[in-house]
Amino acid sequence: MDRSQQLMDRAVKFIPGGVNSPVRACGNVGMAPRFIQGATGPYVIDADSRRYIDYICSWGPMILGHNNPEVLDKVIRACENGLSFGAATEAEVDIAEYICTRIPHVEMIRMVNSGTEAVMSAIRLARGYTKRDKIIKFAGNYHGHSDCLLVDAGSGLMTAGIPGSAGVPAGCTADTLSAVYNDLDSVKKLFEANEGKVAAVIVEPVAANMGVVLPEKGFLKGLRELCTQNGALLIFDEVITGFRLAFGGAAERFKIKPDLVTYGKIIGGGMPVGAYGGRKEIMELVAPLGPVYQAGTLSGNPVAMAAGMEQLKLLAENPDIYSKLEAAGEKLYGGMENLIRQYDLPCTVSHIGSLGCVFFTSAEVKNYELAKTSDTEAFAGYYKFMLEHGIHLAPSQFEAMFLSLAHTDEILDQTLEVFEDYCKSVSA
Ligand code: PMP
Repeated sequence: MDRSQQLMDRAVKFIPGGVNSPVRACGNVGMAPRFIQGATGPYVIDADSRRYIDYICSWGPMILGHNNPEVLDKVIRACENGLSFGAATEAEVDIAEYICTRIPHVEMIRMVNSGTEAVMSAIRLARGYTKRDKIIKFAGNYHGHSDCLLVDAGSGLMTAGIPGSAGVPAGCTADTLSAVYNDLDSVKKLFEANEGKVAAVIVEPVAANMGVVLPEKGFLKGLRELCTQNGALLIFDEVITGFRLAFGGAAERFKIKPDLVTYGKIIGGGMPVGAYGGRKEIMELVAPLGPVYQAGTLSGNPVAMAAGMEQLKLLAENPDIYSKLEAAGEKLYGGMENLIRQYDLPCTVSHIGSLGCVFFTSAEVKNYELAKTSDTEAFAGYYKFMLEHGIHLAPSQFEAMFLSLAHTDEILDQTLEVFEDYCKSVSA
């Protein structure tokens, strides 16, 4: 028995399901998760010291590759000054100024500790600003695990085949309206049926929690227009896309200006961080300036700010980084597409920049219902084959692959060789 299995056998006795976040569990692919002891560059190393090329990248934040030496150096130096003060620090001002002076739609920003907190706070703020209660979200989008957003949710809920969670009172989701991704009419109808009551539309501008689903041409622009017409705020949840699809995220890439934006893990360079920001007149409602209460003892933690600041600087101040990530995405996902065609597999590859996934369906996936047509058993076979051949993927059809700068041409070629072997093994 390998050490990951042994650790899982121990873990399940003390941690529900053996994991501290369900998306790590590999039950749906029928095995114990790899327990990771370390990571460097494009690799993670498991408890048996086996090395894998990693396409999880901590679910996004390791965009420079694992254990980037410059980020690590800043973290060590910050640690030497103290791990947490629960008080204001210069590092918080630096990072807020850095982001607000580079991303035009973020005029003010507040740091929190996770994507869940960021979204929960942005929703509260949108409700406080508009003095309305209802929100529109999209089926298959995931916005963290706060009560009101566990409706038709993607990610771990979709993997488990459940739309929401037990323990959420009906009252908490009564004001959450669910629309169809890439379907503006479904949003229009909800606005019409709830006139003057919708505080905000929240959307993953590129959906990455039902696999990767791209917004069709005009979808985001249409949402912007519908929100403006109806006096509702547009919230882009850029927990995955922020600082990845461009420094200014999907908003910059698609040239759409949201009113509020939520960020997550990438801001912390791997430390637990989230943030929400947007128009000043809205952000000024947040306590202690305004009546929308939101707080956090460890928010803006100095070690997390040091890691985040260094990562953001490396991203913003090296003009080649985004074109390199783009080229890596084109090489890997384009290569996978070609192999799927060559071996005539009933799969599609959905990708943008460094984000992508293989859908085990021949349908062109535009929304939650189409994503659900995927053959999850075939996905499990693919996952196991890739793992056995040294490639570490997210263990679910309904998650994304993340590339980093450490995924060099050589690493991508090795991955494509394994993928070709996989294609051969199933096409016979
Ligand atoms: N929003 C999106 C788009 C996410 O992908 C996630 C998690 N991956 C969250 C919010 C929640 O973030 P966290 O897990 O840090 O709470």
